[in-house]
Amino acid sequence: MGGRTAGAARAGAAPEVAPILDVQGVTLQYKTKEHLITATYRVDFRVYPADRFVLLGPSGCGKSTLLKGVAGFLKPVEGEIRLKGKHVDAPGPDRVMVFQEFDQLLPWKTVRQNITFALVNGGRCSREREADEIAMTYIRKVKLSGFENTYPHMLSGGMKQRVAIARGMAMEPDILLMDEPFASLDALTRRQMQEELLALWDETRFTVLFVTHSIEEALLVGSRVLVLSPHPGQVKAELNANRHSHANVGSPEFTALKTRIHNMLFADRVLEEEITRRG
Ligand code: ADP
Ligand code: MG
Repeated sequence: MGGRTAGAARAGAAPEVAPILDVQGVTLQYKTKEHLITATYRVDFRVYPADRFVLLGPSGCGKSTLLKGVAGFLKPVEGEIRLKGKHVDAPGPDRVMVFQEFDQLLPWKTVRQNITFALVNGGRCSREREADEIAMTYIRKVKLSGFENTYPHMLSGGMKQRVAIARGMAMEPDILLMDEPFASLDALTRRQMQEELLALWDETRFTVLFVTHSIEEALLVGSRVLVLSPHPGQVKAELNANRHSHANVGSPEFTALKTRIHNMLFADRVLEEEITRRG
């Protein structure tokens, strides 16, 4: 795993390296007719080039909302989000999202067309031929050669996610946003996809902001992990996860860190329960 330390090598040193993404004091809210819901409260983090930065927290803590903020779909009520130093106030092709759902592909287009369509419409390519070449390259990278002309309904869940990842990477965004991309997959496929994502990262060193509620997945996929408290999401800790990989999942060190994060995540809840019990 020695090759996977680029992001962290930078973390402790070289203050002159500018962050790709700078999230400072960001509070995000939803206004419905009856309620004002605070999804995240004053969240700070910075993502540097080639980071595999993970947002980890329980369901409902505002992870997807944070990604929506970074993607430019939701404006902070407090704080600021900057991408390469520029204030984010709208969506753009410099940020591409990969979702959990298998239906994020266009069902009437083939694997290849799903990618070329995004490239042409996203403004990355003006010519079909160029788009096609790029699409084929990324289809190969995600090991889907032979399925170029297949329609999404013929593919397994894992294969659909590979297409979505290929499409996202083909756009060559400054940062790839992944919202629990493997959460709907069976355990074995999920593990395989995690390994494939890391292999892709070894090859291209893209910058990724990855959301999960799985502590194990966060430690396996991430180079850095931001631990968020339950609703509303607030930063609990930021951890270096570079030392962990599929090879040391069962190790005492891995298990100890998993337990530490678990306690960190649920400390508030435990305290609340104790107070209720005592009261
Ligand atoms: P996570 O992705 O961590 O599971 P979300 O970001 O989806 O959490 O949601 C954070 C909070 O915001 C939750 O309390 C959720 O109910 C609320 N929320 C999410 N989307 C909306 C919406 N469109 N309108 C109102 N409330 C929402
Ligand atoms: Mg979510």
